[in-house]
Amino acid sequence: MKKCKQCFVSLPLDRFVVDERATKNYTRPRCRSCERADRLKKEQDGFTSVYYLPEEHYVGMTGRVKKRMSAHKSAGKNIINYKILRVFENEIEAHLYETQLHWMGFGGFQFRPNLISLEEDGN
Ligand SMILES: [Zn+2]
Repeated sequence: MKKCKQCFVSLPLDRFVVDERATKNYTRPRCRSCERADRLKKEQDGFTSVYYLPEEHYVGMTGRVKKRMSAHKSAGKNIINYKILRVFENEIEAHLYETQLHWMGFGGFQFRPNLISLEEDGN
């Protein structure tokens, strides 16, 4: 059992996500329900996520991760092991971060002011 840092409920360890960056048996401080609630809240509050599709070497940004991933998937992109790189409160900051990654060579939507409405990549 472990006590969640957010809701203070003691829960079995399998109610906590194992932190993949840490050595084995280390779980995150907050339970899955709290993490999920935060994620949903962030999406609803208009936070913008910058994500990475390792199989496609693709970086993109979205306010609706789940929806975006299913759109990618139905367009034939491989979304396996996708990662949220960072979450921003400010869409412009998210865009600057995404653009930096594109400059570094990651694939994805390239900002071109005159074409922005046409070029929103539907992939
Ligand atoms: Zn909790």
